Amino acid sequence: TLRLSEALDRVKPSATIAVTTKANELKRAGHDVIGLGAGEPDFDTPDNIKEAAMQAIRDGKTKYTPADGIPELKEAICAKFQRENGLTYTPSQIHIAPGGKPVIYNAFVATLNPGDEVIIPAPYWVSYPDMALMAGGTPVPVACGPNANYKLTPEALEAAITPNTKWLLLNSPSNPTGAAYTKEELRGLADVLLRHPHVWTLTDDMYEHLVYDDFEYFTIAQVEPKLFERTLTVNGVSKAYAMTGWRIGYAGGPEKLITAMRKVISQTTSNPCSISQWAAVEALNGPQDFLPERRAVYQQRRDMVVAGLNAAEGITCATPEGAFYVYPSCAGVIGKTGPSGKVIESDKDFASELLEQEKVAIVFGEAFGLSPAFRVSYATSTEALQEALTRIQRFCANLS
Ligand code: PLP
Repeated sequence: TLRLSEALDRVKPSATIAVTTKANELKRAGHDVIGLGAGEPDFDTPDNIKEAAMQAIRDGKTKYTPADGIPELKEAICAKFQRENGLTYTPSQIHIAPGGKPVIYNAFVATLNPGDEVIIPAPYWVSYPDMALMAGGTPVPVACGPNANYKLTPEALEAAITPNTKWLLLNSPSNPTGAAYTKEELRGLADVLLRHPHVWTLTDDMYEHLVYDDFEYFTIAQVEPKLFERTLTVNGVSKAYAMTGWRIGYAGGPEKLITAMRKVISQTTSNPCSISQWAAVEALNGPQDFLPERRAVYQQRRDMVVAGLNAAEGITCATPEGAFYVYPSCAGVIGKTGPSGKVIESDKDFASELLEQEKVAIVFGEAFGLSPAFRVSYATSTEALQEALTRIQRFCANLS
């Protein structure tokens, strides 16, 4: 029999992908399933970006590129960091990979040794702890519940740091909660980090452009320039530009780290798709006017979803600052009995009963490290969301 690697044995498969797969199976079997599990925009990639890709194909830009990206895209990324974040990176401080996910994985592989700890505020994006484990590190989840508005506080950060801490992982706006850190909140964390010079920060800014109600976006190296030398600022085109399938993510960081990450990518995936890189040049350098239009749509949906969930018995939902997720608590339904006679003992039970009874797919909170709760993605049509909310309300009303 095949003996798997010990590193992989510690890892679980992605719960979000599992939910989407289950929902698709039910759909194929003829059920009217509403999937609120997937984390990708329902919008299409803008036409100017598609056209840039087609032009790249016509121009024969279809060969290997430098392993961590073409100079033109690195320039566009430097310009983006300057324009939007006030951060001055040079092309030798930029890493480009096939998605934000591999950027983070490459950073972990390049830096983690056995015993090295990665502080991960919980609830967290499902892949962070598993990527840290696969790279040989030790994830250290820190619970950040509703009382802390799902954000890491300076006190909790201070308490989690040990001599073995290698990275603090920040994700703002957050997947799965949508919570985003204000400038003042980042200032508080930066003050702690200044006292611990051995701790590096990996900030995942993937949802930067999806913030609502005039929220002003900041990233930590911008708030505290002294941290620039030990921060990896991760971003990508997947969410903002509706380009999840194109697979382009990027990061800016100190040259020594970027050089190490280049070594990883050069011996694994090699370059991200050449055509996608040219599309990403157009995404970053081209017109940005569709961003506020889409933002307005997401904000309307967020408000509708928060109100609809709070109208469901036993569910409480905060209004988050950004992303396209909400993370309601389902503490009020735990212990109740569903129509099938099954007692709901966990958020996992809640999710599977909801899918069975009402054919609505959500992801249970346990997967994100903070229970009892669940994640709803509102990156789907307003009509589908409305129908899903009606079904969730009916489901909760029928519990006894
Ligand atoms: N970071 C966060 C917080 C995400 O939610 C996602 C995608 O779900 C990613 C990174 C990965 O993005 P990409 O599709 O570019 O790999």
